[in-house]
Amino acid sequence: MKKLLLTFFLLSTTYGISQTLLSPSDFLGYELGSEFTRHHQVVDYYKYLAENASDRIKLVEYGKTNERRPLIVAYVSTPENIAALESIRLEHLKNTTGQGSPTKAIVWLSYNVHGNESVSTEASMQTIYELLTSKSSYLENTVVIMDPCINPDGRDRYVNWYNQFKNTPNNIDPNSKEHHEGWLNGRSNHYMFDLNRDWAWLTQVESQQRIKVFNQWLPHVHVDFHEQGVNNPYYFAPAAEPFHEVVTDFQRDFQIAIGKNHAKYFDANGWFYFTKEVFDLLYPSYGDTYPTYNGGIGMTYEQGGSGRAGLGVRTFIGDTLTLHDRIAHHLTTGLSTVEVASKNTEKLNREFRKFYQNKNFKYKSYVLNGDPDKIDAIAELLSSHEIKYGWAKEGTAKGHLYSSGKLGTLKTTPANLVVSTNQAKGTLAQVLMEPNTKLSDSLTYDITAWSLPYAFGLEAIASQSLVESDPSGGQEPQPTMGANVSLDTYAYISDWSSMKDARFLTALVKENIRVRFAKNPFWAEGKKFDRGNLIITKGDNRNHKDFVETLSRIAQGNKTILTPTNTGFVEKGNDFGSSYVPMITDTKIAMLSGEPTSTLEFGEIWHFFEQQLHYPLTILDTEYYDEVDLSEYDVLILPNGWYSKFFTENKLQELKDFVSNGGKLIAMEGAIRAINGEHGFAIKEKEIKKDSTENILPYEEAEREDIKNAITGAIFKTKVDQTHPLAYGYGDHYFTLKLSDDAFENLETGTVVYLENANSHIAGFAGSEAKKKIANTLVFGVEEVGKGQVIYMVDNPLFRGFWENGKLFFVNALFMVK
Ligand SMILES: [Zn+2]
Repeated sequence: MKKLLLTFFLLSTTYGISQTLLSPSDFLGYELGSEFTRHHQVVDYYKYLAENASDRIKLVEYGKTNERRPLIVAYVSTPENIAALESIRLEHLKNTTGQGSPTKAIVWLSYNVHGNESVSTEASMQTIYELLTSKSSYLENTVVIMDPCINPDGRDRYVNWYNQFKNTPNNIDPNSKEHHEGWLNGRSNHYMFDLNRDWAWLTQVESQQRIKVFNQWLPHVHVDFHEQGVNNPYYFAPAAEPFHEVVTDFQRDFQIAIGKNHAKYFDANGWFYFTKEVFDLLYPSYGDTYPTYNGGIGMTYEQGGSGRAGLGVRTFIGDTLTLHDRIAHHLTTGLSTVEVASKNTEKLNREFRKFYQNKNFKYKSYVLNGDPDKIDAIAELLSSHEIKYGWAKEGTAKGHLYSSGKLGTLKTTPANLVVSTNQAKGTLAQVLMEPNTKLSDSLTYDITAWSLPYAFGLEAIASQSLVESDPSGGQEPQPTMGANVSLDTYAYISDWSSMKDARFLTALVKENIRVRFAKNPFWAEGKKFDRGNLIITKGDNRNHKDFVETLSRIAQGNKTILTPTNTGFVEKGNDFGSSYVPMITDTKIAMLSGEPTSTLEFGEIWHFFEQQLHYPLTILDTEYYDEVDLSEYDVLILPNGWYSKFFTENKLQELKDFVSNGGKLIAMEGAIRAINGEHGFAIKEKEIKKDSTENILPYEEAEREDIKNAITGAIFKTKVDQTHPLAYGYGDHYFTLKLSDDAFENLETGTVVYLENANSHIAGFAGSEAKKKIANTLVFGVEEVGKGQVIYMVDNPLFRGFWENGKLFFVNALFMVK
C-alpha cells in the first residue's frame, strides 16, 4: 500500500494530472465489493483523494463517535466551486431570507446511517471516485457533500463481526453463520440507538455534531442510503403516503422526477425496483423527512441486503445477491441524483427560496409554560435546530390548550417561551410543536405523535394569532447559592422536578454526600416544598471532610438553586429528623443484557445511565446471570425482551427471593409478561373478549382492518397518583407515548399512572379496538413484595431518549421508591 502511494505521489507531482487518481479498488488493494472495508480504510481513501485532488475536494472532520472514530464530510465540486465554497454557502443561505442569487445545486449524500446496512459506505467510495472522474461534468453547477459513514461504530461492529465469522471463500448458503449476526447486532450505533430516528431529537453524539454542519448548508437534496431485506428489490423515490401536510407540491414532484431518472438506468440494466410503498414521509426524525422539513428533497434509498447478505447470499428465487450488485445499484442512484440536481439548479434554487417564505400556518405561535428546567431543556433543543424563540409578555394567550386538547387560555409571563412559525425554520417548528399531526393515511410503521410540549411535560397554547415576544427576555438568572454553602447552615433544600435535578442527586451520591428527600409536602423559609424535594443537612455530612466545598461545586456546576435553612423545625409538614424524610443511599444497580433482551431497549437504558443520568450501572449478561449473586445489587432492571424461555420456575423463585429480601426489580414492557403468571408476580394482562360477529372481509381489506388493533406510537393522557414516590415531581396527569396495545390490569395497590378510560387518546393514530383494549389499564405501578418492590413500566419512558418528561419516573424508581 505504501509503495503504491509513493508511486502515485511521484506521478502527481511530476505531471499534476488528476486522471491518475486511484480508484477504490486500486487504493485498497482488493476489488471493491470483494471484501468489506473497515472504517479507517474508508477514511484513508477519502484523505488520499483530498490530498491528491485538493482543488476539487475539501475534507472536514466534524466530530468523533462514542468509540472515537472520526466523522467526516467531503465537499466535492469543480476547482472554481471549491475555491469559492464559502461564498457559495453564504449565497445559498441568503436564499432562505429571500435574498441572494445562488446558482448552484447543493446535494448531500449520507451513507451507512444503519451499521449493518454496510453496502452504502462501499458505494460512497466508488461514487466520489466517479464524480471526480467520469461524471465530473455534473459538478460544474453542483456542490456534492458526501458523508461516507454517518454511523462508523455501527458499521465497524458489523464489518468486524463479519470478517471474524465469514467462510473462506464466502458461502452464499443463507443458513451459514456469516448470515446471522449474534446479539448486539444490527443497524444502531454504539449505544444501540437508531440514528435514523434521531435527527429531530439529537440524543446521540453523531446527530449532535452532524446537525451543526447540516444547518450550515441546508441542502437542496438529501439522500439517506439504506438496505432492507435480502429478497427485496431496490426502493427509491417517490415516497409512500402518509406525507406530512407541510410537504410541498414541488417536493412531491421533484421526488418523482428523480425516481424516473433512476428508473431509466434500472430499466436499461433489467434491475427490479419499487416506489411509492412502505417508506413514508411523516415522522420528523428520519434522514428523509428532516431535510424535507428544512426545504430540501429528502429521500431514502433502500437496497436489498443488510446484515444477512454478507459478500453474497442466495435469494429466495435462487439468484445470488452479491456485494458487487449492491454497490452497483447505490452507485447508480447516487450519480443519477446528482445528475438530476445539476440539470435543475435554477428550479431547485427558486423553489428553495419559496419554501422559506412565510407559510402562514394555521398556528402562528406556540406559548410554553412550566418548570424552568424543562423550559431550558426544550430551548436548548430548539437552538440546536436553529429554531428561534422569544419570551412572552404579561398578558393572556388564547388557542388550543395542550392539557385539555380544547380551546383555552393561558396567562403569560416573561418566563413563557414563545415559538413563532413566522420564521425561517417555521415549517420545522410547526412539525415539532403542533398538537396533533394530520395523517393522510394511517398505515405507517412508526410513531405518529411526538409533539414537543407533551414530550417535555409543558403546558402550551397553540395560538392562531401571533403572540408578541421578546427574544432577549427570559427567566431571571437565579443565584445558585453554590458559592454561599457554609457550615453555619442547618440544611439546604433543592427542587425535584427534572432530569437536571436528578443529575444533581447522582452527582452528590457519587461523591458520598448524604441526601434526604421529603415524602410529604412541607413549608419552610416561607415557601412550600413538594414531595421529593431534596434535603442536604449538615448533620448527615459531619464526617464528609469536604462537605462544603463539594456541595458548593456540584450545585454551581449543575446550576442548582439551593434554599438554605437554619432549622430542621418546619413551619408545616414533617421535620427533617422525621422518618418521613428518609435518606437516599448509594444504590447499586444492575441491568440484564444479552439474548433474549431487546438490543435497542437495552441500549436506551445503557445510554440513559452513562450519558444522561451519569450514574454507574452494572451490565449482567444472561449467559452468566446464573452465577451472579443478586444480593450484591439494590436494583435489577429487566429491559424489554422476549423472555418466554429465560425465566424458568427456578429463576422466577430467585427473583421473588431477591425482591422479598429488599431488592427492587424494574420490569419494562415485554419483561412484565416474563415475570407474571402462576409462578411469578401478581400483575395480570387484561383479557380481551373477541367479538365473533365481525364481518367477513375481502382479502385486500385485511391489512386496513388490522390497524383497528394497532397503536404504533400515540399520545395518551394518564392519571397520576402524586402521593406515590414513583410520581414525585409530577402533577396529577401525565402524557404518555404508547407504543403498543399491551394492556395490563391496574394493581390492587400501587397503581401510580394509569389510563382512566377509552377517551384518553390525545394525538397520533390509535385503532378503535386498541383504544378500547387499553382503557382503564396500568401505565406505571409498584407492587410491594416482602421488603422489596417490583416496578412495572408498561410504557417505556426512555424510548429513543426523547420523551424528556417520562425520565423522572425512571429515576424515582431507582432512588425514591422504597
Ligand atoms: Zn436502514
